[in-house]
Amino acid sequence: MHELGIVIQIVKQLENYMDEHDIKKIHTLVLQVGELSGVYPKYIEDVYPIAVEKSKLKDTILKMEITPGLGQCNDCSFNYNLVENNNTCPICSSKEFSIISGKEFLIKEIHAI
Ligand SMILES: [Zn+2]
Repeated sequence: MHELGIVIQIVKQLENYMDEHDIKKIHTLVLQVGELSGVYPKYIEDVYPIAVEKSKLKDTILKMEITPGLGQCNDCSFNYNLVENNNTCPICSSKEFSIISGKEFLIKEIHAI
């Protein structure tokens, strides 16, 4: 499970940010998680308390926004959800596609006190 390492990195990044900007506390952290990012929101939730335990984000609430994994069919240009359709175009059954969204994993917002 690589999620713990990822969350620890984010916590370190935010602690540096708090030092630089003299922020005492972050109330809410919002992460944007793409369905195709290879990161599982469930695991992020599980490891988050461990990652923040001894950090400045100890009392920070974690929220996640999921970006759907959308692709465009290379054959008929139809846009569809890759996860729901198992990477197969529901219109022409082509498996050739270009990813439009869903690979992102980033800090979307922080709400400081
Ligand atoms: Zn198609």
